[in-house]
Amino acid sequence: MSSETLFTKIISGEIPSEKVYEDDEFYAFQDINPAAPVHVLLVPKKVIPAIADATAEDEGLLGRFILTANKIAKELGIAEAGFRYVINNGEQGGQTVAHLHLHILGGRSLEWPPG
Ligand code: AMP
Repeated sequence: MSSETLFTKIISGEIPSEKVYEDDEFYAFQDINPAAPVHVLLVPKKVIPAIADATAEDEGLLGRFILTANKIAKELGIAEAGFRYVINNGEQGGQTVAHLHLHILGGRSLEWPPG
């Protein structure tokens, strides 16, 4: 199933973004409300509404998703010092956009546990 989301509009350029990375399968851009000095969102072009909606069909995509994030973290210069990946799922998980995305956060010491 393919539907329009805020992020499909960003990927198509209908809504502007500061692009960080793009290939056939993924698009990454600066978060508009950064929670850390580095805060990039990595989005699969395929609309999977939430990580819990992923199926066996998405197994390869999800592997490439993380490997692509690793490449971006390295390119952004946060790989050595450390960083955090976050995927919010559903209302109590803090998800506000129903299109799977990975937050890549770094550039400072990050606290744990999250709020
Ligand atoms: P989540 O709460 O996990 O669904 O994350 C959604 C993220 O999208 C938030 O961190 C927002 O700051 C970010 N966001 C919303 N609109 C935009 C936009 N137009 N450009 C870039 N990031 C956005």
